[in-house]
Amino acid sequence: MEKNRIKILGIPIDDITEQEALERADAMINDGAWHQICTVNPEFIMEAQRNPSFRAVLQAADLNTPDGFGVLLAARWLGTPLRGRVTGVELTLGLARLAAIRGYRIFLLGAAPGVAEAAAAALVKRWPTLCIAGCYSGSPAPEDDEQQRQIITLARPHILLVAYGHPRQELWIARNQPFLRIPLAIGVGGTFDYLAGKVPRAPHFIRRIGLEWAFRLAMQPIRWRRIIDAVPAFLFTVLWQEGILRHRG
Ligand code: UDP
Repeated sequence: MEKNRIKILGIPIDDITEQEALERADAMINDGAWHQICTVNPEFIMEAQRNPSFRAVLQAADLNTPDGFGVLLAARWLGTPLRGRVTGVELTLGLARLAAIRGYRIFLLGAAPGVAEAAAAALVKRWPTLCIAGCYSGSPAPEDDEQQRQIITLARPHILLVAYGHPRQELWIARNQPFLRIPLAIGVGGTFDYLAGKVPRAPHFIRRIGLEWAFRLAMQPIRWRRIIDAVPAFLFTVLWQEGILRHRG
């Protein structure tokens, strides 16, 4: 296995800090190829168990950052601890700062109409030299791919952030990147909603003690099903499957 890369339920995850992820992203933007980064949380890993296309995308991505306390806990149980989390929000903020310094252009695709624009405005307010290549609410449906590719190609971004929620955003990127060939594309989930102030984010201390999932449940009770998948079901599956494997081995 690649150095600094572990596997949880067959999904590769890189042991990487936020600073290292930004350095890798910077290198990707400059190497002349096109790349995809995924921020892998427990829901991703559970979805990948039942969705082979999503699993294939996660296995082929250039970098999978650990996102979510459950991922860190599972990694520790498996004897392959990770150093920390790198979430879509953190990556987006770090990339915006980097882009403002280096002159990279960022395109924001997805979320409800007007949200990407509000998120872009929040980023520019913080880093006034940041260049936004474009914003488009769009749609993750394959029949809309062609039209969206035209819009994005004309904007010529270095970084494409896609907020269609998983697995649609990762599948959208994998399907369209061979045509777009944007240096770096990342699925960022609810990041635009957060940047636009539509959804509050858990305070730092709640995130640090691993209770962001409880905060999100309190803020958006409609997510309960997803949160059960993300926390108890995921940890149970890891214990069950990996435990059995260890006994056999
Ligand atoms: N979204 C969208 N089009 C869709 C479905 C979802 O633009 O057809 C957006 C939605 O508005 C939100 C984001 O995708 O901004 C999903 O955020 P969520 O926190 O659910 O992401 P996840 O945790 O599923 O990756």
